[in-house]
Amino acid sequence: MHPDLKEIVYTEEQIQQRVRELGAEIAAEYEGRSLLLVGVLRGAALFVADLARAIDGPVEIDFMAVSSYGSSTKSSGVVRIIKDLDEVIDGRDVLVVEDILDTGLTLKYLLRNLASRKPRSLEVVTLLSKEGKQRVPIDCKYTGFAIPDEFVVGYGLDYAEKYRNLPYIGILKPEVYTN
Ligand code: 5GP
Repeated sequence: MHPDLKEIVYTEEQIQQRVRELGAEIAAEYEGRSLLLVGVLRGAALFVADLARAIDGPVEIDFMAVSSYGSSTKSSGVVRIIKDLDEVIDGRDVLVVEDILDTGLTLKYLLRNLASRKPRSLEVVTLLSKEGKQRVPIDCKYTGFAIPDEFVVGYGLDYAEKYRNLPYIGILKPEVYTN
C-alpha cells in the first residue's frame, strides 16, 4: 500500500471484478447498438479504459474535460467545459462515464449540456457514488460501488494530481493534506 494511505477501500481485484460485471450488464443492454462512451477527464480515464475492454460489442470512446475541485477537496459548484467532445452525438447512444458522483453538480451540468445535442439515449455509469451526498438528483443507471462520505484517491482519482495511477482506491492519511 502507498505510504500516504491510511486504508484501502477497494482492492485492484474488487475494482476489476466490478468493472467486468458492469461491462457485461452494459453489453447486454446495448446489444445490437453502437455505443459512445464519454469519459469525463481526468478522473474517469482509467475506468473508461477498463470498462471499454469489458464491453463485448461495438464501442467508440470520446472524452470531455470539465473543471472540478482543483487541488482542494470541496466541490465549488462551478463547472466549466475545458475540453469538448470531438464527436457529434446527435442520434447516438451515449453513456457518460464518471469516476465519482458526489454532490452531482458536475454531472447535472454535463447531462443538461449533452441532452441539448439530441442524443438518441443518454445514460450515466459512475464507478463510485457517495451515499447521501447528492445535492441534485441524478438518474445514474449503473453504479460500481456506493461509498461513505470520505475523500478517496486512486484508480484515476487524485489529490493535487497525485495517486491517479494507484490500481486500488483508498483513503489518505490526514497529515497528507497539511503537507
Ligand atoms: P460533484 O460535482 O458530484 O460534487 O463532484 C464530482 C467530481 O468531484 C468528481 O468527478 C471528482 O473529480 C471530484 N470528487 C468528488 N469526490 C471526490 C473524492 O472523494 N476524491 C477525489 N479524488 N475526487 C472527488
